[in-house]
Amino acid sequence: MNRTEAIKKLKNESFDLLVIGGGITGVGIALDAQMRGLKTAVIEMQDFASGTSSRSTKLIHGGLRYLKQFEFRLVNEVGRERAIVHKIAPHLVHPDKMLLPLIKDGNYGYLLTNMGLSVYDFLAGVEGSDKKRMLNKAETEAMEPLLRKDILEGGGYYAEYRTDDARLVMGIARTAWSKGTVLSNYVKLESLNTEKGRINGCVVKDLFADEEFSIKAKQVVNATGPWVDGIREKDGSLEGKRLFLSKGIHLVVDHEKFPIRQTVYFDNEDGRMVFAIPRGKTTYFGTTDTAYEADKEDPLVSKDDAEYAINAVNYMFPDVRVSFDDIRSSWAGLRPLIHEDGKDPSQISRKDEIFESTSGLISIAGGKLTGYRKMAERVVDLVAKNHKNNLLTCQTESQKIIGGEFDNYQEVQALVDKLFTEFPKLISNFYTAEYLVHNYGTAALEILRNASEIKLDPKKAIVVAEVNYTCKNEMCMGALDFFERRTGRVNFDTQEIAEVQEVALKALANFLNWEKDESNQQEIDLVQTIRKVKLKLD
Ligand code: FAD
Repeated sequence: MNRTEAIKKLKNESFDLLVIGGGITGVGIALDAQMRGLKTAVIEMQDFASGTSSRSTKLIHGGLRYLKQFEFRLVNEVGRERAIVHKIAPHLVHPDKMLLPLIKDGNYGYLLTNMGLSVYDFLAGVEGSDKKRMLNKAETEAMEPLLRKDILEGGGYYAEYRTDDARLVMGIARTAWSKGTVLSNYVKLESLNTEKGRINGCVVKDLFADEEFSIKAKQVVNATGPWVDGIREKDGSLEGKRLFLSKGIHLVVDHEKFPIRQTVYFDNEDGRMVFAIPRGKTTYFGTTDTAYEADKEDPLVSKDDAEYAINAVNYMFPDVRVSFDDIRSSWAGLRPLIHEDGKDPSQISRKDEIFESTSGLISIAGGKLTGYRKMAERVVDLVAKNHKNNLLTCQTESQKIIGGEFDNYQEVQALVDKLFTEFPKLISNFYTAEYLVHNYGTAALEILRNASEIKLDPKKAIVVAEVNYTCKNEMCMGALDFFERRTGRVNFDTQEIAEVQEVALKALANFLNWEKDESNQQEIDLVQTIRKVKLKLD
């Protein structure tokens, strides 16, 4: 993905469809539209996935708790999507059994859990050994010895998947690019152009060149998540249903500090449900669900948010004793929900809705990361209806996401092993091998081949090879693009950044032709971000 080439095309070509927003919804729509035969472009005002799509719980899940709200259609759809997204991106979507401890006077008793999980499996079409299992107290304790014992009564054990949300967005964006979609980050929609009351393009700003230009497009889709209403306002069509933004946060600690063996979905004292998820060297936990009205680009984890999550962990895992000092990283995200009168944030439906204005602007909001493909299908069905030529039906169910060219999940694990034998000088620990395969899929081989030719110690050589790869193929435009969204190190390997920061910044400067001032600024931004995610700012 080459940004200079993309900007040239955005300026000079005209498109059947322009998608505003490069989160999971926007890139999902673009891939679907392009594969049906629509010439498609995507603009993103920050980096791809900078909005909610890099700030989720990172689960590809059916949403067990939505059963309680009788959202059978939603659970049915996203539950079934899990297996599809696992198949098309097996390096990014990993089967991960979930343990639901049953506690005295908790949300779910044994009978309700047994019945609920059966319905959940049925709706999602779960088969064979993946089907749920009910556990007695001793079995639950054995599975997760850190759980609080005095209130534990048993557990439910059922299938879910975990992912890396930002990498999933990147993979879909690249797959769309490979099919002909033109995508650029750091291009912001300024205003919509109309002719005889119908949208025929828009004015955008290239935020790097500080230059405005027009893009010609027959149809425009507004997939801007928390910003959807702002774009509807520009279109003059903000009436009726509005967005309601709900903030959710996660905290990350060393896995050694909170050594859970597996993902747990547990009751907090106040009745809310909280996730604790082991990942590589860390364990992360959350989330909250609170009304939000401040800055959408940089939602922050407040002291109260952090205290809430820490108390939840210390309530259910009393021997762990997490404190503020243990926080290695954190993030906050905004759920773009559709407002419902008189409901608490956690009661509001997560289902998506589509609005079509008289000017032809199609806006989509709500929904889940997990259901992105079906959301895209509905939007593109609508776009196709307004299009003159006959188009193919949705083709994305069997389209492998770039990096995910594996026949089955065993091949993903086999590639992790292969890295040890093919690159013994570079790969000496399981964490690095697994990280490379889970982040880049089949491209891990190309990155390591490049790293073999770099005369630095293994850790630094791999990072430089990653910079080269992501700048060339994934439109990585800066230090935060690299350390936050392309590699996830800001969240899951913060400690390592100091060791590799200098060589990474140098490689970025080489690739992106930075002057000294720019390099210095990038370093300052990176250091400040790390302080911020560690909650070290006043
Ligand atoms: P976004 O990712 O926010 O993308 C919108 C993009 O539009 C942004 O990148 C923004 O920069 C861009 N944009 C805005 N204005 C403009 C403009 N003028 N010009 C150009 N670009 C613009 N779902 C799951 O399935 N599993 C989970 O585990 C899960 N956990 C969650 C936990 C939390 C705390 C939260 C907040 C959400 C969670 N979700 C989960 C829901 C899921 O993350 C969201 O539904 C999804 O990421 C929304 O994606 P989006 O593309 O619609 O919005």
